Amino acid sequence: MKPLAELTWPLVAQAVAEGVTTVILPLGATEQHGPHLPLGTDTVRARALAERLAERLPVLVAPTFPVGCSDEHGGFAGLLGLEAETLAAVIVDCARRMVAWGVRRLVVLSAHGGNGRALALAEARLRRELPELALWIPDAAMVCGDAVRAVAAVDAVSFNAIGLHAGEGETSELLRLCPEQVRLNQATPGYTGDMEEGLTRLIAAGTRALSDNGVMGDPRLADADRGERYLAAQTACYEASLRALLTAQPVAFSEDGSA
Ligand SMILES: [Zn+2]
Repeated sequence: MKPLAELTWPLVAQAVAEGVTTVILPLGATEQHGPHLPLGTDTVRARALAERLAERLPVLVAPTFPVGCSDEHGGFAGLLGLEAETLAAVIVDCARRMVAWGVRRLVVLSAHGGNGRALALAEARLRRELPELALWIPDAAMVCGDAVRAVAAVDAVSFNAIGLHAGEGETSELLRLCPEQVRLNQATPGYTGDMEEGLTRLIAAGTRALSDNGVMGDPRLADADRGERYLAAQTACYEASLRALLTAQPVAFSEDGSA
């Protein structure tokens, strides 16, 4: 299906009547992604994944939210951000309107890890306030992590190079999606130590304390063709889970969102 914002109300009403009752709500962010990637990197990635899924599945795609919870990137210019409670409220408010015109399943597809607390808050509220709405809020690392690492392994790219932020992984994807926005001559490695330890330190003290240029990973290894393979692998992982969600009755889903 075309993106929701490009449809008319009669077209949406018709789609719902024909059984298209699932909406993907993509979440991005506006935050530093090193000296070489645009602030809207996560927004670009969220929109691309949602649109690829909508090409394969009977789902509607809501406009991508371009602002998330990004205070871990404080101290770098360009940051926009919401409190976790605010983002959770935005999700719940939109879901309430969706339910009113017939939506029965909501998939919140966040391309930004910092949204985690907001997503947990939203999930708790949605399960309490809109129990008729089946909900899936995938954890990107859980759903796609192995598939992404498998793509990298083929090219002998290490996990520390893929990185957690603006590293080889995101840079490869952006080279595929919007190469004109990638300043590859500015791409320099940032924190390239152990990424699990890096994540712990990032959560505790923010990116600035860890990496002068805001990068976690090594973007110099980025490659557009590998970016396409990353995107295809993630799309396939989400698609498989979504197919199961679409064929199940909403009431059949348990608290943790599994079938
Ligand atoms: Zn990002």
